[in-house]
Amino acid sequence: MDNASKPHAVIVSSPGVGHLVCNLELGNRLVADHNFHITFFVVLESPGASPGESQLIQSATTQKLLHVVVLPPVDVWGQVGPKAPIFTRLTAVMREIGPTLRSGISTLKPSPTAIIVDVFGTPALDVADEFHMLKYVFVRSAWPLALMLYVPILDKEIEEYIDQNEPLRIPGCMAVRPEDVVDPLLDRTKQEYNMFVQVGSEIRKSDGVLVNIWEDLDATTLKAMREEEAFGSVPVYAVGPLIKQVEPSAASKKSDLLDWLDQQPIESVLYISFGSLGVLSAQQITELAWGLEQSQQRFIWVLRPPCKKVSSEDGRGNDALNYLPHGFWHRMGNLGIVVTQWAPQSEILSHRSTGGFLSHCGWNSLLESILSGVPMITWPLCAEQKMNATKLAEEVGVAVRPKIAPTTGVVGRVEIEMMVRKVMEDPEGKAMRVRVKELKISAKKALVEGGGSFNAMSYLAKQCLMKSQSQIVKGP
Ligand code: UDP
Repeated sequence: MDNASKPHAVIVSSPGVGHLVCNLELGNRLVADHNFHITFFVVLESPGASPGESQLIQSATTQKLLHVVVLPPVDVWGQVGPKAPIFTRLTAVMREIGPTLRSGISTLKPSPTAIIVDVFGTPALDVADEFHMLKYVFVRSAWPLALMLYVPILDKEIEEYIDQNEPLRIPGCMAVRPEDVVDPLLDRTKQEYNMFVQVGSEIRKSDGVLVNIWEDLDATTLKAMREEEAFGSVPVYAVGPLIKQVEPSAASKKSDLLDWLDQQPIESVLYISFGSLGVLSAQQITELAWGLEQSQQRFIWVLRPPCKKVSSEDGRGNDALNYLPHGFWHRMGNLGIVVTQWAPQSEILSHRSTGGFLSHCGWNSLLESILSGVPMITWPLCAEQKMNATKLAEEVGVAVRPKIAPTTGVVGRVEIEMMVRKVMEDPEGKAMRVRVKELKISAKKALVEGGGSFNAMSYLAKQCLMKSQSQIVKGP
């Protein structure tokens, strides 16, 4: 089939590895399984692509499934200030790219009939209106989406989210505890709050929300969003799980780390990572190291130094290894590995020796863990990660969580040891392992022909084809 007779959609990916990973996967699926032609616009923040972003762009370009267009990096630091929270910064970047995107889209042949943006990309939907395109928003998970869609209503009802002692009630969904409320809602006097409400309103006006989830993972929230009037009438499609899949042959590309993993017993290694950006305090790194040591479990730890400001004041500098307790390696021997650079996370999680994941609860990481059948210890740091953690630990039943939120204090070594043992050794951990493996099976079924997520993407393809046919009938 030539490009002219395929549904043509544009995907606009906001800056950051976490967005790029799943947006690329969405594009690849739409092309490989649903015959789409996809133009993929990569948006970068100044000064340009990070090593993780470069790697992903490079492999997508080489693979040639998508027509990848990297837009010139955008600098909004002067506009929003150096301390601007991520939500403010990224929505500002996505507003700035309007003119570049407009000229990029205008040159595409055949004209695209749909645009898909991620949650930071709603400012780009105005451009889509100019080209009469269908507008879709691709978001990570269902429960935070429900909160976002409901926020324009909460905005009128609630004076201060942070002073609420009661959980936030969202129709038909699990209530959100005050300590899990997402950061932008914590202070209504801030610009970030207004932007969050605005994004909620813009999503409600789109032609549909694609959620990187499958029906079985959060059926309650999906049902509520489809049935309750409070969420508006925007259609919600579960299209996931869309994550970077590791081919067994690719995993056999060897490194010292994977060689070490090969030599460990089945499901015996705990993988520890806080995503592409997450860092811990110096004190928390020490406690985590002691907790690991006391647990005597095998581990791979992606360790970064604390944030730059602290590490320069602290005197231990920017070498992450300086933050481990004195004598740590001497006492631990060959029981673990610390990675101070980018780790091949998908390969590690899908390796048969990996048996647990201590995770910051970024949505890609959670999906990668579930698709590898690996139970988790939740360690949320920011954004919607606190909600993800609660969902997984308390409703889905595939994770343990610390008693205090890592965002509010230091989790002590005794509790860390207890959580690690629970996931790796205890009967409770074994039950979670069974549950996560059941979910892995249901996730795979959702994506194959006849599965819920496959059908949702096919429906999308039909919508886009109908749109392009109606445009041809109407003429330019
Ligand atoms: N990742 C990786 N190696 C690392 C850190 C992260 O491959 O050392 C990948 C990870 O597999 C995931 C993505 O980066 O696909 C991070 O996305 P996530 O949503 O989990 O977290 P974010 O970085 O957006 O907070």
